[in-house]
Amino acid sequence: MHIVLLGRPGAGKGTQGERLAKRLGVTHVSTGDVLRGAMAADTPLGRSVRATVEHGELVPDTVMGGLVAEVVAGAHSGILFDGYPRTVAQCETLSSMLGPCGPDLAVDLDVPAATVLDRVRRRRVCSACGVIGPGGMGRAAACAQCGSALARRIDDDPGVLLRRLGAYEREATPVANWFARTARLIRVDGTGVVDAVTARLNATVARWFESERQPALAVSGPKT
Ligand code: AMP
Repeated sequence: MHIVLLGRPGAGKGTQGERLAKRLGVTHVSTGDVLRGAMAADTPLGRSVRATVEHGELVPDTVMGGLVAEVVAGAHSGILFDGYPRTVAQCETLSSMLGPCGPDLAVDLDVPAATVLDRVRRRRVCSACGVIGPGGMGRAAACAQCGSALARRIDDDPGVLLRRLGAYEREATPVANWFARTARLIRVDGTGVVDAVTARLNATVARWFESERQPALAVSGPKT
């Protein structure tokens, strides 16, 4: 089983993707995390994408295709893709890698732009293990998991975030349409507290699998 999680930066794809992947027994792959890992390890891939990622632009489709081909080749279970595909070209690359049966499903985690701007403005991540720390008033200064300092991700800087949102808005509709055409898109309202979104997501995905891909578009909230 292969699932794609779509949504704006800050929609909660990381947190929800990890939970959904665990529930479905598939591997969670965040292409953003893979790229940040390569940058932190200063690999040739990391060096080649650093400026692009730090400016909030999309890494070229060919580079992403190479990275995802390695992930798919090394996978021993299904995969939940978080942050891939982001362009129609990437949809086609993924589809040709997985064959006619995949990806099975794309879930659009729908959160309005104003909400993600507010979430990302407050978001802090662990500088060592990448875990997302609490936001808002009275937030911790250290990671609950490893004790390292929490910091703002370089591409969560407000100016960079606007570019990332711009890249998302340019590509989101064609990508969603690509999945809708193949009757493999569901949309889930991603607003509200984390556990409520998880419950909504689990229920919508379970309903979709039970109904064997009918109807073509199941929406649990209005598209923003
Ligand atoms: P994310 O953590 O998913 O928000 O990704 C962080 C950054 O990694 C993005 O702003 C892009 O620069 C890059 N990136 C991640 N996934 C992709 C992708 N599928 N296509 C192009 N660039 C990507």
